[in-house]
Amino acid sequence: MTNREAYENMCDELEQYQEIGTVEECKELASIVNMAEKEELAKIIDEWLLYSKIGTVEECREAVEKQTPKKCVEDSCPDHTHYKCPSCGKIQKTKYNDSTFGCILNNCSNCGQALADENLEGVEDGID
Ligand SMILES: [Zn+2]
Repeated sequence: MTNREAYENMCDELEQYQEIGTVEECKELASIVNMAEKEELAKIIDEWLLYSKIGTVEECREAVEKQTPKKCVEDSCPDHTHYKCPSCGKIQKTKYNDSTFGCILNNCSNCGQALADENLEGVEDGID
């Protein structure tokens, strides 16, 4: 890069900065942003304190997860398929070639996980 090119680059950069604002304007904006961030932070802390009274973030997440129906985990062998709770692994239902034992309830009897049985229709219809 020649001196001339370097000088032109500097002028270009200077022009770009001038479009953003003067140093004073930038400082003022930065302090406003800072204040807004502090207020935002106070709000976040307030909300967090509120949530912490309900339970920890992890506990809340776990509760929400358990209320969200999940499909059972299929564990297949050549002659049967287990449908297990996705949370604790308890077997809800076992399907053999021509029969089914147990059934998938709305919630796991062991851990309370909400269960969705997307296979139910096909399985029940196929038993006859
Ligand atoms: Zn379970």
